Amino acid sequence: MGDIETAISALTEADTISLSSHVNPDGDSVGSLLGMAMILQGRGKSIYACMPEPLKFPPQYDFLPGRELLADPDNQVKDVDLFIALDCSNRERLGPLQQCAERAARMLNIDHHEDNRLYGDINLVDEHASSTSELVYRVIKAAGWEIDPDVATCLYTGMVTDTGRFEHRNTSPETFAVASELAQAGADISRVIKEVYDSQSLAYTHLMGLALRRIEVIEDLGFAYSFITQRDLAETGATLPETEDLIDHLRSIRGTKVVALFKELADGKIRVSLRSRDAYEIGPVARVMGGGGHAMAAGYTSDNNIEESISDLVQELRKHQA
Ligand code: AMP
Ligand code: MN
Ligand code: MN
Repeated sequence: MGDIETAISALTEADTISLSSHVNPDGDSVGSLLGMAMILQGRGKSIYACMPEPLKFPPQYDFLPGRELLADPDNQVKDVDLFIALDCSNRERLGPLQQCAERAARMLNIDHHEDNRLYGDINLVDEHASSTSELVYRVIKAAGWEIDPDVATCLYTGMVTDTGRFEHRNTSPETFAVASELAQAGADISRVIKEVYDSQSLAYTHLMGLALRRIEVIEDLGFAYSFITQRDLAETGATLPETEDLIDHLRSIRGTKVVALFKELADGKIRVSLRSRDAYEIGPVARVMGGGGHAMAAGYTSDNNIEESISDLVQELRKHQA
């Protein structure tokens, strides 16, 4: 049996199913979570869909259908028949929901990271898929389950955001074919763009101005970076989940090969987002720093302060270049 058929039998056999996105959820993890939740609900399953940190729901995805299905992770039922991890390269990405995942009878891992640790009992992992949302689409299609416009909108959102609006290297002819089928199924494609990219808050726009003015470039490395502190958030009134695509503005600077955005978290740790261009592979750098991700989009969290985190990364980039 192929991976997809195994996944479909697990979904069909289970009555109670928990499903989760990763910590710091992005468009792909939210879209695949809500899309899958609605499909399973429609098939009469008892579902417990949640994100590891509910307060961090990015406001740009507030418009997505299916949000009413999200449960509080504190009330998560542990002894379910099946736990589905979406867009998580390893168990740690489930944050506080790892315990719940361990107590489930079976674990289904659906993901597209090249560094996926195959931690599930069933692993539906394809690093060539544009997004986890695309993999969820493949499962639904292979099972012959009907995709309604709400599910299509969620999965389309995951594809649009993980491919940077079909610009990144993970965009293939297959990606466009699936996007086309989702449009056929009724995905609200103009609303997705309007809500995700053209509805930012004034507070976030001000924060973006701050971060853009601060950009520093280290020319011989082709490296551009900026940072956001907790003080910046307090002063502008913006929130971190809103900043998901700020880093793309750094990547568009001519001459850059790799860019980083350092974001100070409430606990003082620094979340580092990395993006690259051309042939530069940033995933291995993120892994050395204790994180992970794709060739062109990766990240990690540092225990050092912003200044130290910047110099740690510069040092690593120099080694990587040498
Ligand atoms: P971000 O910059 O936070 O949007 O993350 C970019 C990519 O790196 C995403 O594909 C994440 O799944 C991955 N990533 C970020 N942080 C980590 C981490 N600590 N461990 C593994 N993967 C990560
Ligand atoms: Mn993701
Ligand atoms: Mn993804």
